[in-house]
Amino acid sequence: MNRVLHGISASPGIVFGPVRLLRWDVPEVPHRVIADEQVDEEIARFRDAVARATTRLLQVRDRAEQHAGPEEAAIFEVQIGMLADAALLAEVESYIRQNLDADKAFDVVMLEWRQKFARSAAPMLRERVGDLTDVHIRVLTMLMDLPDHDPVDVPKGTNAILVTDDLTPSITVQLDREAIAGIATDSGTRTSHVAILARSLGIPAVVGLRDATSRLKGGESAVLDASSGLLVIEPSPNELEAFRSRADAQARNDAELARFTDVEAITTDHVRLTLRANVDLPEEAEAAARSGADGVGLMRTEFLVVGRATMPDEEEQYRAYRRVVEAFAGHPVIVRTFDIGGDKLPVGGYPSEPNPFLGWRAIRMCLDSPDLFKVQLRALLRAALHGDVRIMLPLIVSVAEVRAARALLDEAAAELTAAGVPFRRQVPLGVMMETPGAAVAADTFAGEVAFFSIGTNDLVQYTLAVDRGNVNLASRFTALHPAVLRLIRRIVDVADAQGIDVAVCGEMASQPLMAFALIGLGVRELSVNPRAVAATKFLVRGISTALAAEAATAAANARTAIDAERELRFRLVAALGDGPLPGEGA
Ligand code: PEP
Ligand code: MG
Repeated sequence: MNRVLHGISASPGIVFGPVRLLRWDVPEVPHRVIADEQVDEEIARFRDAVARATTRLLQVRDRAEQHAGPEEAAIFEVQIGMLADAALLAEVESYIRQNLDADKAFDVVMLEWRQKFARSAAPMLRERVGDLTDVHIRVLTMLMDLPDHDPVDVPKGTNAILVTDDLTPSITVQLDREAIAGIATDSGTRTSHVAILARSLGIPAVVGLRDATSRLKGGESAVLDASSGLLVIEPSPNELEAFRSRADAQARNDAELARFTDVEAITTDHVRLTLRANVDLPEEAEAAARSGADGVGLMRTEFLVVGRATMPDEEEQYRAYRRVVEAFAGHPVIVRTFDIGGDKLPVGGYPSEPNPFLGWRAIRMCLDSPDLFKVQLRALLRAALHGDVRIMLPLIVSVAEVRAARALLDEAAAELTAAGVPFRRQVPLGVMMETPGAAVAADTFAGEVAFFSIGTNDLVQYTLAVDRGNVNLASRFTALHPAVLRLIRRIVDVADAQGIDVAVCGEMASQPLMAFALIGLGVRELSVNPRAVAATKFLVRGISTALAAEAATAAANARTAIDAERELRFRLVAALGDGPLPGEGA
Protein backbone atom coordinates (compact mmCIF):
# COMPACT_ATOMS: atom_id res chain seq x y z
CA MET A 1 0.00 0.00 0.00
CA ASN A 2 1.15 3.50 -0.73
CA ARG A 3 1.80 4.89 2.74
CA VAL A 4 1.57 8.54 1.76
CA LEU A 5 -1.93 9.77 0.99
CA HIS A 6 -2.25 13.16 -0.69
CA GLY A 7 -5.13 15.51 -0.01
CA ILE A 8 -5.74 19.21 0.38
CA SER A 9 -4.54 21.26 3.32
CA ALA A 10 -7.66 22.55 5.04
CA SER A 11 -6.43 23.64 8.46
CA PRO A 12 -2.69 23.74 9.22
CA GLY A 13 -0.66 21.82 11.78
CA ILE A 14 1.33 18.59 12.06
CA VAL A 15 0.06 15.93 14.44
CA PHE A 16 0.98 12.34 15.27
CA GLY A 17 -1.36 9.63 16.47
CA PRO A 18 -3.33 6.47 15.80
CA VAL A 19 -5.89 6.39 13.00
CA ARG A 20 -9.47 6.33 14.20
CA LEU A 21 -11.66 5.22 11.34
CA LEU A 22 -15.21 6.46 11.29
CA ARG A 23 -17.58 4.80 8.86
CA TRP A 24 -21.03 6.16 9.31
CA ASP A 25 -23.00 4.39 6.56
CA VAL A 26 -26.02 2.14 6.68
CA PRO A 27 -24.56 -1.39 6.39
CA GLU A 28 -25.80 -3.94 3.83
CA VAL A 29 -28.24 -6.25 5.56
CA PRO A 30 -28.56 -9.80 4.18
CA HIS A 31 -32.08 -11.13 3.71
CA ARG A 32 -32.68 -13.85 6.30
CA VAL A 33 -35.90 -15.61 7.24
CA ILE A 34 -36.45 -17.30 10.56
CA ALA A 35 -38.58 -20.25 11.69
CA ASP A 36 -41.78 -19.64 13.69
CA GLU A 37 -40.20 -20.93 16.88
CA GLN A 38 -37.39 -18.35 16.61
CA VAL A 39 -39.77 -15.37 16.58
CA ASP A 40 -39.81 -14.69 20.34
CA GLU A 41 -36.07 -14.99 20.59
CA GLU A 42 -35.65 -12.59 17.65
CA ILE A 43 -38.02 -10.04 19.18
CA ALA A 44 -36.03 -10.24 22.41
CA ARG A 45 -32.81 -9.72 20.45
CA PHE A 46 -34.33 -6.67 18.75
CA ARG A 47 -35.50 -5.16 22.06
CA ASP A 48 -32.08 -5.74 23.54
CA ALA A 49 -30.41 -3.95 20.61
CA VAL A 50 -32.80 -1.01 21.00
CA ALA A 51 -32.03 -0.85 24.71
CA ARG A 52 -28.30 -0.89 24.06
CA ALA A 53 -28.59 1.74 21.33
CA THR A 54 -30.57 3.93 23.74
CA THR A 55 -27.90 3.61 26.43
CA ARG A 56 -25.30 4.54 23.86
CA LEU A 57 -27.31 7.56 22.73
CA LEU A 58 -27.62 8.74 26.32
CA GLN A 59 -23.80 8.68 26.56
CA VAL A 60 -23.53 10.46 23.23
CA ARG A 61 -26.00 13.11 24.38
CA ASP A 62 -24.04 13.74 27.58
CA ARG A 63 -20.82 14.04 25.64
CA ALA A 64 -22.35 16.42 23.13
CA GLU A 65 -23.72 18.52 25.97
CA GLN A 66 -20.26 18.70 27.50
CA HIS A 67 -18.46 19.59 24.26
CA ALA A 68 -21.01 21.60 22.37
CA GLY A 69 -23.84 22.63 24.70
CA PRO A 70 -27.43 21.75 25.55
CA GLU A 71 -28.96 22.91 22.26
CA GLU A 72 -26.65 20.71 20.22
CA ALA A 73 -27.24 17.79 22.57
CA ALA A 74 -31.00 18.09 21.94
CA ILE A 75 -30.58 16.37 18.58
CA PHE A 76 -29.86 13.16 20.42
CA GLU A 77 -33.01 13.53 22.53
CA VAL A 78 -34.90 13.39 19.26
CA GLN A 79 -33.14 10.14 18.35
CA ILE A 80 -33.72 8.65 21.80
CA GLY A 81 -37.40 9.51 21.34
CA MET A 82 -37.48 7.68 18.01
CA LEU A 83 -36.21 4.52 19.64
CA ALA A 84 -39.06 4.72 22.12
CA ASP A 85 -41.69 5.24 19.41
CA ALA A 86 -44.35 2.56 19.95
CA ALA A 87 -45.51 2.60 16.31
CA LEU A 88 -42.00 2.08 15.00
CA LEU A 89 -41.24 -0.75 17.41
CA ALA A 90 -44.58 -2.43 16.67
CA GLU A 91 -43.96 -2.31 12.92
CA VAL A 92 -40.56 -3.97 13.30
CA GLU A 93 -41.99 -6.65 15.56
CA SER A 94 -44.80 -7.32 13.12
CA TYR A 95 -42.25 -8.00 10.36
CA ILE A 96 -40.39 -10.34 12.70
CA ARG A 97 -43.68 -12.18 13.31
CA GLN A 98 -43.84 -12.57 9.52
CA ASN A 99 -40.52 -14.47 9.77
CA LEU A 100 -38.01 -11.77 8.87
CA ASP A 101 -35.00 -11.72 11.15
CA ALA A 102 -34.61 -8.67 13.41
CA ASP A 103 -31.85 -7.07 11.29
CA LYS A 104 -33.85 -7.17 8.08
CA ALA A 105 -37.13 -6.27 9.77
CA PHE A 106 -35.57 -3.16 11.31
CA ASP A 107 -33.79 -2.30 8.05
CA VAL A 108 -37.02 -2.49 6.03
CA VAL A 109 -39.01 -0.40 8.49
CA MET A 110 -36.32 2.26 8.69
CA LEU A 111 -36.11 2.50 4.90
CA GLU A 112 -39.88 2.92 4.76
CA TRP A 113 -39.91 5.56 7.48
CA ARG A 114 -37.06 7.48 5.92
CA GLN A 115 -38.90 7.57 2.60
CA LYS A 116 -42.14 8.57 4.27
CA PHE A 117 -40.46 11.38 6.22
CA ALA A 118 -38.51 12.61 3.16
CA ARG A 119 -41.72 12.91 1.15
CA SER A 120 -43.75 14.48 3.93
CA ALA A 121 -45.35 17.86 3.39
CA ALA A 122 -44.41 18.83 6.94
CA PRO A 123 -40.93 20.37 7.21
CA MET A 124 -40.66 19.12 10.80
CA LEU A 125 -40.78 15.54 9.53
CA ARG A 126 -38.48 16.09 6.56
CA GLU A 127 -36.03 17.60 8.98
CA ARG A 128 -35.86 14.33 10.88
CA VAL A 129 -34.57 12.15 8.03
CA GLY A 130 -30.95 12.61 9.12
CA ASP A 131 -31.87 11.53 12.64
CA LEU A 132 -33.66 8.46 11.34
CA THR A 133 -30.54 7.56 9.35
CA ASP A 134 -28.38 7.92 12.46
CA VAL A 135 -30.76 5.67 14.40
CA HIS A 136 -30.86 3.20 11.51
CA ILE A 137 -27.05 2.89 11.55
CA ARG A 138 -26.79 2.77 15.32
CA VAL A 139 -29.29 -0.05 15.89
CA LEU A 140 -27.97 -2.12 12.97
CA THR A 141 -24.47 -1.76 14.41
CA MET A 142 -25.77 -3.33 17.61
CA LEU A 143 -27.84 -6.04 15.89
CA MET A 144 -25.12 -7.06 13.47
CA ASP A 145 -22.36 -6.81 16.04
CA LEU A 146 -20.39 -4.39 13.87
CA PRO A 147 -17.50 -2.36 15.25
CA ASP A 148 -18.80 0.79 16.87
CA HIS A 149 -17.24 3.57 14.83
CA ASP A 150 -18.68 6.38 16.86
CA PRO A 151 -16.03 8.97 17.75
CA VAL A 152 -17.49 9.29 21.23
CA ASP A 153 -15.38 6.71 22.96
CA VAL A 154 -11.97 8.00 22.03
CA PRO A 155 -10.31 8.53 25.43
CA LYS A 156 -8.85 11.92 26.21
CA GLY A 157 -5.17 12.20 25.39
CA THR A 158 -5.40 9.63 22.55
CA ASN A 159 -4.46 12.26 19.96
CA ALA A 160 -6.35 10.26 17.39
CA ILE A 161 -6.47 11.19 13.72
CA LEU A 162 -10.10 10.87 12.72
CA VAL A 163 -10.42 9.48 9.20
CA THR A 164 -13.85 9.68 7.68
CA ASP A 165 -15.66 10.23 4.41
CA ASP A 166 -17.14 13.56 5.40
CA LEU A 167 -17.94 15.27 8.66
CA THR A 168 -21.63 15.49 9.37
CA PRO A 169 -22.94 18.04 11.84
CA SER A 170 -23.96 15.33 14.31
CA ILE A 171 -20.41 13.97 14.32
CA THR A 172 -18.91 17.43 14.58
CA VAL A 173 -20.74 18.26 17.77
CA GLN A 174 -19.43 15.07 19.37
CA LEU A 175 -15.76 15.75 18.70
CA ASP A 176 -13.72 15.94 21.85
CA ARG A 177 -10.77 18.11 21.01
CA GLU A 178 -8.77 16.57 23.85
CA ALA A 179 -9.11 13.18 22.16
CA ILE A 180 -9.02 14.04 18.44
CA ALA A 181 -5.80 15.68 17.25
CA GLY A 182 -6.59 15.91 13.54
CA ILE A 183 -9.18 15.24 10.88
CA ALA A 184 -8.71 13.58 7.49
CA THR A 185 -11.62 13.24 5.07
CA ASP A 186 -12.12 11.60 1.70
CA SER A 187 -14.30 14.40 0.39
CA GLY A 188 -14.12 18.18 0.66
CA THR A 189 -11.93 21.02 -0.56
CA ARG A 190 -10.28 24.06 1.01
CA THR A 191 -13.41 26.12 0.80
CA SER A 192 -15.86 23.37 1.74
CA HIS A 193 -17.58 23.84 5.05
CA VAL A 194 -15.79 21.03 6.87
CA ALA A 195 -12.55 22.81 6.06
CA ILE A 196 -13.87 26.15 7.23
CA LEU A 197 -15.15 24.64 10.46
CA ALA A 198 -11.89 22.76 11.14
CA ARG A 199 -9.93 25.98 10.68
CA SER A 200 -12.30 27.74 12.92
CA LEU A 201 -11.93 25.10 15.64
CA GLY A 202 -8.16 25.10 15.15
CA ILE A 203 -8.06 21.35 14.42
CA PRO A 204 -5.46 20.38 11.78
CA ALA A 205 -7.32 18.91 8.82
CA VAL A 206 -6.63 17.40 5.43
CA VAL A 207 -9.61 16.99 3.10
CA GLY A 208 -10.05 15.53 -0.37
CA LEU A 209 -8.07 12.32 0.30
CA ARG A 210 -10.59 10.45 -1.89
CA ASP A 211 -10.13 6.89 -0.61
CA ALA A 212 -8.43 7.04 2.79
CA THR A 213 -11.37 5.32 4.50
CA SER A 214 -11.20 2.32 2.19
CA ARG A 215 -7.40 2.07 2.37
CA LEU A 216 -7.17 2.11 6.15
CA LYS A 217 -8.28 -0.37 8.77
CA GLY A 218 -8.03 1.88 11.81
CA GLY A 219 -5.42 1.70 14.55
CA GLU A 220 -2.45 2.38 12.23
CA SER A 221 0.05 4.92 13.50
CA ALA A 222 0.10 8.03 11.34
CA VAL A 223 1.32 11.55 10.82
CA LEU A 224 -1.14 14.12 9.59
CA ASP A 225 0.84 16.91 7.97
CA ALA A 226 -2.13 19.16 7.48
CA SER A 227 0.07 22.06 6.43
CA SER A 228 1.13 20.11 3.33
CA GLY A 229 -2.06 18.07 2.87
CA LEU A 230 -0.49 14.68 3.66
CA LEU A 231 -1.52 11.66 5.68
CA VAL A 232 1.45 9.34 6.19
CA ILE A 233 0.70 5.87 7.47
CA GLU A 234 3.11 3.87 9.67
CA PRO A 235 5.90 6.47 9.36
CA SER A 236 9.47 5.20 9.63
CA PRO A 237 11.67 6.55 12.46
CA ASN A 238 13.41 8.78 9.92
CA GLU A 239 10.13 10.16 8.62
CA LEU A 240 8.93 10.76 12.16
CA GLU A 241 12.08 12.65 12.92
CA ALA A 242 11.66 14.79 9.80
CA PHE A 243 8.00 15.62 10.62
CA ARG A 244 8.92 16.43 14.22
CA SER A 245 11.54 18.91 13.12
CA ARG A 246 9.08 20.46 10.62
CA ALA A 247 6.50 20.75 13.40
CA ASP A 248 9.11 22.44 15.63
CA ALA A 249 10.06 24.83 12.83
CA GLN A 250 6.39 25.71 12.35
CA ALA A 251 5.95 26.32 16.05
CA ARG A 252 8.97 28.65 16.01
CA ASN A 253 7.60 30.43 12.95
CA ASP A 254 4.20 30.85 14.62
CA ALA A 255 5.86 32.26 17.72
CA GLU A 256 7.82 34.64 15.51
CA LEU A 257 4.64 35.80 13.73
CA ALA A 258 2.79 36.18 17.04
CA ARG A 259 4.98 39.24 17.66
CA PHE A 260 2.92 40.98 14.98
CA THR A 261 -0.39 40.42 16.76
CA ASP A 262 -0.66 43.88 18.23
CA VAL A 263 1.10 46.00 15.62
CA GLU A 264 -0.77 48.00 13.00
CA ALA A 265 -1.32 46.63 9.50
CA ILE A 266 0.49 49.42 7.74
CA THR A 267 2.32 49.22 4.42
CA THR A 268 5.82 50.57 3.77
CA ASP A 269 4.18 53.53 1.99
CA HIS A 270 2.10 54.24 5.11
CA VAL A 271 -1.30 52.98 4.05
CA ARG A 272 -3.21 51.54 6.96
CA LEU A 273 -5.30 48.47 6.26
CA THR A 274 -8.20 47.23 8.33
CA LEU A 275 -7.86 43.59 9.31
CA ARG A 276 -10.86 41.85 10.73
CA ALA A 277 -11.47 38.25 11.74
CA ASN A 278 -13.92 35.68 10.41
CA VAL A 279 -15.79 34.07 13.28
CA ASP A 280 -17.83 30.95 12.70
CA LEU A 281 -18.91 30.02 16.22
CA PRO A 282 -19.75 32.32 19.14
CA GLU A 283 -17.43 30.25 21.34
CA GLU A 284 -14.51 31.33 19.19
CA ALA A 285 -15.13 35.02 19.81
CA GLU A 286 -12.82 35.57 22.78
CA ALA A 287 -9.85 33.82 21.14
CA ALA A 288 -10.50 35.64 17.86
CA ALA A 289 -10.57 38.95 19.74
CA ARG A 290 -7.03 38.21 20.99
CA SER A 291 -5.80 37.69 17.42
CA GLY A 292 -5.18 41.39 16.90
CA ALA A 293 -8.17 41.85 14.57
CA ASP A 294 -10.10 45.14 14.33
CA GLY A 295 -13.48 43.48 14.78
CA VAL A 296 -15.32 40.79 12.88
CA GLY A 297 -15.63 41.03 9.12
CA LEU A 298 -17.79 37.93 8.75
CA MET A 299 -19.71 35.97 11.32
CA ARG A 300 -21.18 32.90 9.62
CA THR A 301 -24.39 32.41 11.57
CA GLU A 302 -25.32 29.14 9.90
CA PHE A 303 -22.95 27.36 12.26
CA LEU A 304 -25.40 28.22 15.04
CA VAL A 305 -27.61 25.67 13.37
CA VAL A 306 -25.01 22.88 12.97
CA GLY A 307 -26.16 19.59 14.33
CA ARG A 308 -29.32 21.04 15.75
CA ALA A 309 -32.77 19.58 15.95
CA THR A 310 -34.46 22.98 15.64
CA MET A 311 -33.59 26.50 14.57
CA PRO A 312 -32.16 28.61 17.42
CA ASP A 313 -34.80 30.93 18.85
CA GLU A 314 -34.51 34.72 19.17
CA GLU A 315 -33.20 34.63 22.71
CA GLU A 316 -30.48 32.12 21.91
CA GLN A 317 -29.41 34.01 18.81
CA TYR A 318 -29.39 37.29 20.73
CA ARG A 319 -27.07 35.74 23.33
CA ALA A 320 -24.77 34.37 20.61
CA TYR A 321 -24.46 37.72 18.76
CA ARG A 322 -24.10 39.64 21.99
CA ARG A 323 -21.26 37.36 23.07
CA VAL A 324 -19.33 38.16 19.88
CA VAL A 325 -20.06 41.88 20.10
CA GLU A 326 -18.93 42.03 23.72
CA ALA A 327 -15.76 40.05 22.97
CA PHE A 328 -14.91 42.66 20.31
CA ALA A 329 -16.00 45.65 22.40
CA GLY A 330 -15.50 48.90 20.52
CA HIS A 331 -15.04 47.23 17.13
CA PRO A 332 -17.51 46.54 14.34
CA VAL A 333 -19.02 43.07 14.11
CA ILE A 334 -20.46 42.16 10.73
CA VAL A 335 -22.98 39.39 11.09
CA ARG A 336 -24.11 37.59 7.99
CA THR A 337 -27.70 36.43 7.96
CA PHE A 338 -28.34 32.71 7.54
CA ASP A 339 -26.59 31.29 4.52
CA ILE A 340 -28.20 27.88 4.59
CA GLY A 341 -29.23 25.39 1.94
CA GLY A 342 -27.19 24.13 -1.02
CA ASP A 343 -23.68 23.18 -0.03
CA LYS A 344 -24.43 24.71 3.34
CA LEU A 345 -26.25 22.98 6.10
CA PRO A 346 -29.20 20.88 5.14
CA VAL A 347 -31.36 22.28 7.91
CA GLY A 348 -35.01 23.07 7.97
CA GLY A 349 -36.01 19.90 6.20
CA TYR A 350 -36.09 21.68 2.89
CA PRO A 351 -36.54 19.44 -0.10
CA SER A 352 -33.42 18.30 -1.89
CA GLU A 353 -32.90 20.00 -5.22
CA PRO A 354 -31.28 18.97 -8.49
CA ASN A 355 -29.07 22.08 -8.49
CA PRO A 356 -28.61 23.10 -4.86
CA PHE A 357 -25.78 25.54 -5.61
CA LEU A 358 -28.16 27.47 -7.81
CA GLY A 359 -31.10 26.73 -5.61
CA TRP A 360 -33.41 27.98 -2.94
CA ARG A 361 -30.90 29.04 -0.36
CA ALA A 362 -29.35 31.90 1.62
CA ILE A 363 -31.16 35.24 1.10
CA ARG A 364 -33.68 33.53 -1.21
CA MET A 365 -34.80 31.12 1.47
CA CYS A 366 -34.77 33.86 4.15
CA LEU A 367 -36.92 36.25 2.09
CA ASP A 368 -39.39 33.45 1.39
CA SER A 369 -39.46 32.44 5.09
CA PRO A 370 -40.04 35.79 6.78
CA ASP A 371 -40.89 34.24 10.13
CA LEU A 372 -37.56 32.46 10.30
CA PHE A 373 -35.69 35.51 8.97
CA LYS A 374 -37.29 38.03 11.28
CA VAL A 375 -36.31 36.01 14.35
CA GLN A 376 -32.71 36.53 13.28
CA LEU A 377 -33.20 40.20 12.42
CA ARG A 378 -34.84 40.92 15.79
CA ALA A 379 -31.99 39.15 17.60
CA LEU A 380 -29.48 41.25 15.65
CA LEU A 381 -31.26 44.55 16.33
CA ARG A 382 -31.27 43.68 20.02
CA ALA A 383 -27.59 42.68 20.03
CA ALA A 384 -26.81 46.01 18.35
CA LEU A 385 -27.58 47.72 21.66
CA HIS A 386 -24.30 46.30 22.92
CA GLY A 387 -21.97 47.41 20.12
CA ASP A 388 -21.37 48.16 16.48
CA VAL A 389 -23.39 45.39 14.80
CA ARG A 390 -23.66 45.50 11.02
CA ILE A 391 -25.90 43.17 9.05
CA MET A 392 -24.72 41.47 5.86
CA LEU A 393 -26.87 39.64 3.34
CA PRO A 394 -25.48 36.57 1.51
CA LEU A 395 -25.78 35.50 -2.13
CA ILE A 396 -27.28 38.76 -3.31
CA VAL A 397 -27.80 39.11 -7.05
CA SER A 398 -30.12 42.10 -7.16
CA VAL A 399 -30.88 45.27 -5.26
CA ALA A 400 -34.50 44.12 -5.14
CA GLU A 401 -33.42 41.53 -2.58
CA VAL A 402 -31.81 44.25 -0.48
CA ARG A 403 -35.04 46.25 -0.54
CA ALA A 404 -37.09 43.22 0.46
CA ALA A 405 -34.67 42.45 3.30
CA ARG A 406 -34.80 46.06 4.45
CA ALA A 407 -38.59 45.91 4.56
CA LEU A 408 -38.37 42.84 6.80
CA LEU A 409 -35.81 44.61 8.97
CA ASP A 410 -38.34 47.46 9.38
CA GLU A 411 -41.01 44.93 10.34
CA ALA A 412 -38.66 43.28 12.83
CA ALA A 413 -37.97 46.70 14.40
CA ALA A 414 -41.70 47.47 14.56
CA GLU A 415 -42.36 44.15 16.27
CA LEU A 416 -39.71 44.86 18.90
CA THR A 417 -41.13 48.32 19.48
CA ALA A 418 -44.63 46.89 19.86
CA ALA A 419 -43.36 44.35 22.36
CA GLY A 420 -41.44 47.02 24.29
CA VAL A 421 -38.13 45.21 23.80
CA PRO A 422 -35.08 47.50 23.68
CA PHE A 423 -32.98 47.53 20.50
CA ARG A 424 -30.93 49.83 18.28
CA ARG A 425 -32.49 50.84 14.98
CA GLN A 426 -29.47 52.35 13.22
CA VAL A 427 -27.76 49.21 11.97
CA PRO A 428 -25.82 49.40 8.69
CA LEU A 429 -26.97 46.93 6.04
CA GLY A 430 -24.46 45.55 3.53
CA VAL A 431 -24.19 42.74 1.02
CA MET A 432 -21.88 39.90 0.14
CA MET A 433 -20.52 40.34 -3.35
CA GLU A 434 -20.21 36.69 -4.28
CA THR A 435 -22.03 36.29 -7.55
CA PRO A 436 -20.80 37.52 -10.93
CA GLY A 437 -24.24 39.11 -11.39
CA ALA A 438 -23.84 41.33 -8.35
CA ALA A 439 -20.23 42.15 -9.30
CA VAL A 440 -21.04 43.22 -12.85
CA ALA A 441 -24.03 45.25 -11.65
CA ALA A 442 -22.24 46.56 -8.53
CA ASP A 443 -23.22 50.15 -9.42
CA THR A 444 -26.92 49.30 -9.05
CA PHE A 445 -26.43 49.00 -5.29
CA ALA A 446 -25.31 52.63 -4.95
CA GLY A 447 -27.26 54.46 -2.28
CA GLU A 448 -28.89 51.26 -1.05
CA VAL A 449 -26.16 49.48 0.91
CA ALA A 450 -23.56 50.60 3.45
CA PHE A 451 -20.88 48.13 2.44
CA PHE A 452 -19.78 45.35 0.12
CA SER A 453 -17.90 42.31 1.32
CA ILE A 454 -16.43 40.16 -1.42
CA GLY A 455 -17.00 36.45 -0.83
CA THR A 456 -14.32 35.02 -3.04
CA ASN A 457 -15.17 31.39 -2.27
CA ASP A 458 -18.50 31.69 -4.01
CA LEU A 459 -17.37 34.36 -6.47
CA VAL A 460 -14.77 31.93 -7.84
CA GLN A 461 -17.26 29.06 -7.81
CA TYR A 462 -19.92 30.95 -9.76
CA THR A 463 -17.58 32.79 -12.10
CA LEU A 464 -15.67 29.70 -13.18
CA ALA A 465 -18.62 27.29 -12.81
CA VAL A 466 -16.49 25.14 -10.51
CA ASP A 467 -18.19 23.45 -7.55
CA ARG A 468 -16.13 24.63 -4.56
CA GLY A 469 -16.70 21.38 -2.68
CA ASN A 470 -15.84 18.94 -5.47
CA VAL A 471 -12.48 17.32 -4.86
CA ASN A 472 -12.14 16.40 -8.55
CA LEU A 473 -12.27 20.07 -9.47
CA ALA A 474 -9.94 21.37 -6.77
CA SER A 475 -7.16 22.23 -9.25
CA ARG A 476 -9.64 24.19 -11.39
CA PHE A 477 -10.75 26.35 -8.50
CA THR A 478 -8.34 29.13 -9.41
CA ALA A 479 -8.96 32.37 -7.56
CA LEU A 480 -6.28 34.08 -9.66
CA HIS A 481 -8.16 33.49 -12.92
CA PRO A 482 -8.24 36.81 -14.80
CA ALA A 483 -12.05 36.85 -14.75
CA VAL A 484 -12.08 36.71 -10.95
CA LEU A 485 -9.42 39.39 -10.58
CA ARG A 486 -11.25 41.66 -13.02
CA LEU A 487 -14.55 41.23 -11.21
CA ILE A 488 -12.89 42.11 -7.92
CA ARG A 489 -11.37 45.19 -9.50
CA ARG A 490 -14.78 46.18 -10.84
CA ILE A 491 -16.38 45.87 -7.40
CA VAL A 492 -13.62 47.90 -5.76
CA ASP A 493 -13.79 50.62 -8.41
CA VAL A 494 -17.56 50.96 -8.06
CA ALA A 495 -17.27 51.00 -4.27
CA ASP A 496 -14.62 53.72 -4.38
CA ALA A 497 -16.61 55.81 -6.85
CA GLN A 498 -19.83 55.49 -4.85
CA GLY A 499 -18.32 55.84 -1.37
CA ILE A 500 -19.31 52.32 -0.34
CA ASP A 501 -17.00 50.44 2.07
CA VAL A 502 -15.52 47.34 0.49
CA ALA A 503 -13.80 44.37 2.14
CA VAL A 504 -12.87 40.82 1.20
CA CYS A 505 -13.94 38.06 3.59
CA GLY A 506 -13.45 34.94 1.40
CA GLU A 507 -10.46 32.61 1.81
CA MET A 508 -8.38 34.62 -0.65
CA ALA A 509 -7.87 37.21 2.07
CA SER A 510 -6.21 34.64 4.35
CA GLN A 511 -3.67 33.50 1.73
CA PRO A 512 -0.59 35.76 1.57
CA LEU A 513 -0.12 35.75 -2.19
CA MET A 514 -3.79 36.42 -2.80
CA ALA A 515 -3.97 39.06 -0.08
CA PHE A 516 -1.10 40.80 -1.89
CA ALA A 517 -3.18 40.71 -5.10
CA LEU A 518 -6.26 42.03 -3.31
CA ILE A 519 -4.33 44.95 -1.83
CA GLY A 520 -3.02 45.64 -5.32
CA LEU A 521 -6.58 45.67 -6.64
CA GLY A 522 -7.35 48.44 -4.17
CA VAL A 523 -8.85 46.47 -1.28
CA ARG A 524 -8.05 48.11 2.07
CA GLU A 525 -10.06 45.89 4.37
CA LEU A 526 -9.54 42.15 4.75
CA SER A 527 -11.38 39.73 6.97
CA VAL A 528 -9.31 36.65 7.64
CA ASN A 529 -9.25 33.49 9.66
CA PRO A 530 -8.15 34.62 13.19
CA ARG A 531 -5.04 32.47 12.91
CA ALA A 532 -3.98 34.41 9.82
CA VAL A 533 -4.21 37.90 11.38
CA ALA A 534 -0.59 38.12 12.59
CA ALA A 535 0.81 36.64 9.35
CA THR A 536 -1.25 39.10 7.29
CA LYS A 537 0.08 42.00 9.35
CA PHE A 538 3.60 40.78 8.71
CA LEU A 539 2.82 40.63 4.99
CA VAL A 540 1.26 44.09 4.87
CA ARG A 541 4.20 45.65 6.71
CA GLY A 542 6.63 44.24 4.17
CA ILE A 543 5.01 45.62 1.01
CA SER A 544 4.02 48.93 -0.53
CA THR A 545 0.64 49.54 -2.14
CA ALA A 546 2.53 50.68 -5.25
CA LEU A 547 4.26 47.30 -5.59
CA ALA A 548 0.99 45.48 -4.91
CA ALA A 549 -0.81 47.57 -7.55
CA GLU A 550 1.85 46.83 -10.13
CA ALA A 551 1.69 43.11 -9.32
CA ALA A 552 -2.12 43.02 -9.39
CA THR A 553 -2.27 44.77 -12.74
CA ALA A 554 0.21 42.29 -14.18
CA ALA A 555 -1.79 39.42 -12.66
CA ALA A 556 -5.14 40.68 -13.97
CA ASN A 557 -3.61 41.08 -17.43
CA ALA A 558 -2.09 37.60 -17.41
CA ARG A 559 -3.88 35.03 -19.52
CA THR A 560 -3.98 32.23 -16.99
CA ALA A 561 -4.08 31.80 -13.22
CA ILE A 562 -0.63 30.20 -13.32
CA ASP A 563 0.84 33.21 -15.10
CA ALA A 564 -0.94 35.50 -12.67
CA GLU A 565 0.56 33.62 -9.75
CA ARG A 566 4.04 33.97 -11.21
CA GLU A 567 3.59 37.72 -11.60
CA LEU A 568 2.57 38.04 -7.97
CA ARG A 569 5.04 35.61 -6.46
CA PHE A 570 8.29 36.98 -7.79
CA ARG A 571 7.38 40.49 -6.70
CA LEU A 572 6.26 39.39 -3.25
CA VAL A 573 9.35 37.25 -2.73
CA ALA A 574 11.51 40.20 -3.76
CA ALA A 575 9.79 42.32 -1.10
CA LEU A 576 9.66 39.79 1.74
CA GLY A 577 12.71 37.70 1.00
CA ASP A 578 13.07 34.09 -0.03
CA GLY A 579 11.61 31.16 1.85
CA PRO A 580 8.00 30.24 2.56
CA LEU A 581 5.59 33.13 2.62
CA PRO A 582 4.28 33.95 6.09
CA GLY A 583 1.45 31.62 7.03
CA GLU A 584 1.17 30.24 3.50
CA GLY A 585 -1.28 27.38 3.68
CA ALA A 586 -2.56 28.76 6.99
C1 PEP B 1 -17.48 33.28 0.41
O1 PEP B 1 -18.31 32.76 -0.34
O2 PEP B 1 -16.36 33.67 0.04
C2 PEP B 1 -17.77 33.45 1.84
C3 PEP B 1 -16.99 34.20 2.59
O3 PEP B 1 -18.83 32.81 2.38
P1 PEP B 1 -18.92 31.24 2.57
O4 PEP B 1 -17.54 30.67 2.46
O5 PEP B 1 -19.52 31.03 3.90
O6 PEP B 1 -19.82 30.83 1.45
MG1 MG C 1 -20.33 32.49 0.24
